Amino acid sequence: MLTGNTNEERIWNYLTAAGFNACGVAGLMGNLYAESGLNPQNLQNTYEKKLGYTDAAYTAAVDSGAYTNFAGDKAGYGLAQWTYSTRKAALLAYARAAGKSVGDLETQLAFLVKELRESFAAVYNTLKTAQTVRAASDAVMLKFERPANQSAEALARRAAYGQGYFDKYGKKGAGNKVGYTNSALVAYTKLSPNCNKPRKDKIDTITIHCFVGQVTVERGCEVFQNTARQASCNYVVAKDGKIGLCVEEANRSWCSSSAANDNRAVTIEVASDTVHPYAVTDQAYAALIDLVADICRRNGIGKLVWSTQKADRVNHKNGCNLTVHRDYANKACPGEYLYSRMGDIAAQVNKRLGAADAGQTPATKPQTPEAWAVPFKVRVSAADLNIRTGPGTNTARKGYIKPGVYTIVEVRSGPGASAWGKLKSGAGWISLDFCKKI
Ligand SMILES: [Zn+2]
Repeated sequence: MLTGNTNEERIWNYLTAAGFNACGVAGLMGNLYAESGLNPQNLQNTYEKKLGYTDAAYTAAVDSGAYTNFAGDKAGYGLAQWTYSTRKAALLAYARAAGKSVGDLETQLAFLVKELRESFAAVYNTLKTAQTVRAASDAVMLKFERPANQSAEALARRAAYGQGYFDKYGKKGAGNKVGYTNSALVAYTKLSPNCNKPRKDKIDTITIHCFVGQVTVERGCEVFQNTARQASCNYVVAKDGKIGLCVEEANRSWCSSSAANDNRAVTIEVASDTVHPYAVTDQAYAALIDLVADICRRNGIGKLVWSTQKADRVNHKNGCNLTVHRDYANKACPGEYLYSRMGDIAAQVNKRLGAADAGQTPATKPQTPEAWAVPFKVRVSAADLNIRTGPGTNTARKGYIKPGVYTIVEVRSGPGASAWGKLKSGAGWISLDFCKKI
């Protein structure tokens, strides 16, 4: 799934997730911009007139089958302006097999990465290891795009486009996603005018509130439409467990009586009783845990940490990243029902986050991991097995390992799995519970 608010952000995120470093992504994007303006439906301008099609009409005619000369017409098309007949034919076949439009952004990105990996290995490796945007950009232009104009000026121009993307997105370091996303669990959206756009800080905190009313998702969002109230939240969880979006995660809600908190927190109002202990329904409670796990996953919060001490919460001591309204105002919120369950909420969410190390049925459950004879090989089949910096779900996640065969050089026990294996490549540790020893 693509994430980001613009094509530029989506492309950056996709290519970053594909494993290219920041210089590589920027260098590739500068070339894509020179080719197509990052428009996946772009038909080479000179052919628009010649063929009598606009970008959209050409795309629609190819998709419907009304136009049959896509591969043979020599017209550049799409993000990379694919032109050669065999490459255009392969792009079309790839899109058809996926049941997607030939002009679909995600489909073209997947095809682009596949082409680079399978047919342009030198460029592919350069994009993973490039130390400068220029090096990546030159490799893409001279060995992959190979445009008619290969002048020094053209090389410099494309590298400058790429540098622009690097300056905008790359300085945070490779692997960082840009832009904000909202939860796919949202069933109803009614955006509130009561917010600041955009939020000032990176999301690293969750703040859970009680709504003081067993509301539906529609009613819950409706009350934050009133500008006189000067209140809002990012999400409403309704009494039936439906989730509403009031303020996009990109923006700061007016929820917790603290600008500092709400600039860094995703705030959630949960439908509750109107009297002490402000109980919530089981459906709302379950939906809340789903939602919080989803927010953590998308925003890189590896573990939710609760403390019963206010000083720990407001100072984010010991990694504490779960705050409550009563920390900032003389209020009962989130009410005793939710307040007394914050530890449970954190535990359940962390179980879900740890479960991202899952992916398939455990094949082996060694009793004494450290006793395993190393090295040995394992097969990884899951597409979502995490690589971590150490043996346990309490260590940082470095990304997903690609399915394949890997050599394990050390085995340790640790939280979240019965055994953790250290990768020979030095990339980190993976849970052995979810791969097969071979
Ligand atoms: Zn509150």
